[in-house]
Amino acid sequence: MEIAVIDRLPVPFGLVRYGVAPDHESIRSIRNTLERTLERPEVRFYGDVTIGSDLQIEELRQVVDAVIYAYGAGSDRRLGVAGEDLKGSIAAPEFVAWYCGHPDVHPDLDQPTSDGHLVAAAIDELIATASQAVVVGVGNVALDVARVLIKSAPELTDTDMPDDVLESHARKGISEVHILGRRGPAYTSFTTKELRELGQLPGVDVIMAADDLDLDQSSSAVVARDKVAARNVAVMREWADRKPTGADKRIYLHFWTRPTRILGSERVEGVQVERTAIDSDGYVVGSGGNRDIAAQLVVRAVGYRGRPLPGVPYDESTGRVPHAEGRVIRDHGFSADEYVTGWIKRGPTGVIGTNKSDAVETVTSLLADIHDGAVVPHGRSGDLDRLLSQRGISPLDMPAWHRIDAAEIELGRSHGRRRTTLAHRRELLAAAGDDHSPA
Ligand code: NAP
Repeated sequence: MEIAVIDRLPVPFGLVRYGVAPDHESIRSIRNTLERTLERPEVRFYGDVTIGSDLQIEELRQVVDAVIYAYGAGSDRRLGVAGEDLKGSIAAPEFVAWYCGHPDVHPDLDQPTSDGHLVAAAIDELIATASQAVVVGVGNVALDVARVLIKSAPELTDTDMPDDVLESHARKGISEVHILGRRGPAYTSFTTKELRELGQLPGVDVIMAADDLDLDQSSSAVVARDKVAARNVAVMREWADRKPTGADKRIYLHFWTRPTRILGSERVEGVQVERTAIDSDGYVVGSGGNRDIAAQLVVRAVGYRGRPLPGVPYDESTGRVPHAEGRVIRDHGFSADEYVTGWIKRGPTGVIGTNKSDAVETVTSLLADIHDGAVVPHGRSGDLDRLLSQRGISPLDMPAWHRIDAAEIELGRSHGRRRTTLAHRRELLAAAGDDHSPA
């Protein structure tokens, strides 16, 4: 079997490179495992090929026996409150893409910004002029964002963040981050290791109200049945018992609190929040008691959402590709040659390792269908290459990635860093070598 891994970006690794926080080096090192797979003789990487413009799905389906969609969930969710579009209110996926050096947020000067993404210069200005930030949501992305916002530039030097991102952090003046959870501490989506890390940041007090930890009946039931919830609550109890040290930087955790309006006229000046409760049907409802939290930056970390890809079935209500056990459903029946895995299959949940069992299910379905004759082989070796070459498209392969990799390590070393991510597409293509340098 030959496997072509197609990516619209010039480099492989997707979420591991562009979603995992740069200060989580051990998780980012999963890249080495992925690299070993991409180096196998039966696997080829096709970087810088955009499905929907360079190549249509229908064309791809004609030259290969089966397609597996694994393109993740690239968009963000909205809060649906007034003021959400004010300058200073941004989506976590954009902020994450910025600090990871994603080319969409670091466009070349002559490149139109795709999907109206905020560009790096705008984020640079926001964090340079904000001293207080609000992060909405109590999942791992909220933790990543809060941690990166509060850490100083020297604390981030030992990462592979792009140089200009690191320079922005050096100009940043954020000393206070408020994290808002619309339910109680028993209902967070944190993993305990990541939560604990927040309380270990040097020079930062983590502050929360002790009475948020008085668990009501339903919270107690959650803690009794869910070990992660119990561990998380134990970590937060320890924080609530700690006396603030008077550190210059503070992270506040506010539970039973949700935003009702983002305040400001042109630029965010604060967030109006209300106290919440869970009603008898399990819905989060306002329980009265509005107050304002001063902030010049609001980051909504309330989850990702899948985007439609031209020609691929998409369920608008879930933001996913409809499927059963990884077999794509098209026109009310199973499509004979289309499969799906990852976030675009199950939604933006789970840690990186969750994708492994998810992929096993999909590949098991594919292999069973090949065995049963449901997948009819029709692609010939080399058909994809011929099609791309007829279009004048030269994909970036793994040797090109190794040249980019070497350039990033070299650039990092020249500044006394381990490596430095090249964020601009033009830089990536130039590092990839002569064939791929922009004209
Ligand atoms: P998430 O885990 O689904 O958390 C989203 C949070 O936003 C939840 O607390 C949710 O609260 C809240 N929320 C949703 N809509 C809201 C609204 N309208 N108002 C207020 N709050 C709202 O999503 P995520 O943090 O984006 O993470 C995505 C996935 O990536 C997760 O599986 C996560 O574990 C994973 N991840 C892992 C790591 C790591 O392992 N280090 C790092 C980053 C991300 P409710 O529960 O009340 O809905």
